[in-house]
Amino acid sequence: MRVIMHRPIATTAGFRQCAALALCWLLVWFAQSTLAAKTVAIVGAAVIHPERELVEHDRTLIIEDARVLAIGAAGDTSIPAEAQIIDARGKWVMPGLIDAHVHFFQSGNFFARPDVANFEGYVSYADETARNKARLPATFKIYLANGVTGVIDAGGPMWNFDVRAAAREAAAAPNVAVAGPLLSTIDAPRLNLGDPPIIRVESAQAARELVRRQARSQPDYIKVWFIHNQGDDLAEQESMVAAAGEEAHAAGIRLAVHATELAVAKAALRAGADFLVHSVENETIDDEFIALALQRKVLYCPTLAVYTGYQEALSGHWQPTAIEARRADPDIVSALRSGSGLPRKLFPHDVSRLILQHYLPRRAPIMAENLRRAAAAGISVVMGTDAGNIGTLHGPAIHREMATMAQSGMPPMQILQAATSNGAKALNRANELGALRPGMRADLIVLNADPLQDVANLAVLDRVIKDGVVFDPNELMRAAGTP
Ligand SMILES: [Zn+2]
Repeated sequence: MRVIMHRPIATTAGFRQCAALALCWLLVWFAQSTLAAKTVAIVGAAVIHPERELVEHDRTLIIEDARVLAIGAAGDTSIPAEAQIIDARGKWVMPGLIDAHVHFFQSGNFFARPDVANFEGYVSYADETARNKARLPATFKIYLANGVTGVIDAGGPMWNFDVRAAAREAAAAPNVAVAGPLLSTIDAPRLNLGDPPIIRVESAQAARELVRRQARSQPDYIKVWFIHNQGDDLAEQESMVAAAGEEAHAAGIRLAVHATELAVAKAALRAGADFLVHSVENETIDDEFIALALQRKVLYCPTLAVYTGYQEALSGHWQPTAIEARRADPDIVSALRSGSGLPRKLFPHDVSRLILQHYLPRRAPIMAENLRRAAAAGISVVMGTDAGNIGTLHGPAIHREMATMAQSGMPPMQILQAATSNGAKALNRANELGALRPGMRADLIVLNADPLQDVANLAVLDRVIKDGVVFDPNELMRAAGTP
């Protein structure tokens, strides 16, 4: 009897186990499928399309599977029943911002560039670099918290390729494109910890070999630090850069060049540069430069604010802007604030004086004029900060940069274009980033104020959406935490 009774009980228990297991699997499947097919509806926003210089009012934007599914008039666009709804009436929506020039191996702190300002007696460069590596997940979050959904690391150690891989794996990170170590015409031995960010090349053959070595890691750019000092043979330097360019292009990799003097920038363009990562700073650009730039369809990144960051930090006068106080790495903000804690004797007053007395008064007006000339000539301008350099902070540095672009006379719509659709060209992903239309990746920002009135309103950020995932900037900053 007991045995007979036992069988159905056992069967029932087995059935229950099976059913529970099936239910579990069903839930897992359902969770995965809803995660993959997450639908978001942003309702009633003014949508800014910088690439078309257009604003559409009272729009509804539907996101599905990490892509823009539809954008239409709020009344005519049907909202899927399962959609997460963001009420964006009275708000502005535009593509996520792209900072086309950063360096993840640097933090913006005093210890980032011992070749320029040597504070090694206080914090070693090895400790500084190790800290920045460990802090990467937080730095990624800080970028997103500033509305930055794409960045280009314009050169660093070979572990830059791990940075790109980490960003692809992370749940909260911008799109990251990278260059490896810079091929340079000069040496920077203080930065060499065994995986140097800057490698001197002395011949065309050496340049080709270094490009080939880096090409195995599939860099997004080969970067050249084209420093031309008095007495250097510019033609010989150009042929070395041309060799690097030829080798890079043969491997399908674009060439980014640091060239800040007019003659050097022209040599870089002749040598095949696709991306000039700084302004021409010493002379106003001329017709020859413009013709070369247009012919090469070069991207021009002015990096207007980075000198000011150095000057303020190295003179002990750096103070965070309101947005830096809230949306930068708090550790770096407190370290930089008025040079707190650092022995005054360590400050390289000659460097800050040189920037204050020479670079800022002489070069800044030329950089502004060249930005106006480049934009007027139809050269594609991209927004980039050179974040990581002393006084230029990952994330909110974009606001200092765009404010300086605006002071140079660039209209807000063109600045937004530089920071979105042109940035997407620099990421080599203009087919899916930098603009909002059906089929594009859902990387966008929701703003509480109109950035076309003032680009400073880009800091009045309500939500950041990356690959269709909605983030609250304040929560991102909490998650980034303090080291
Ligand atoms: Zn740089």
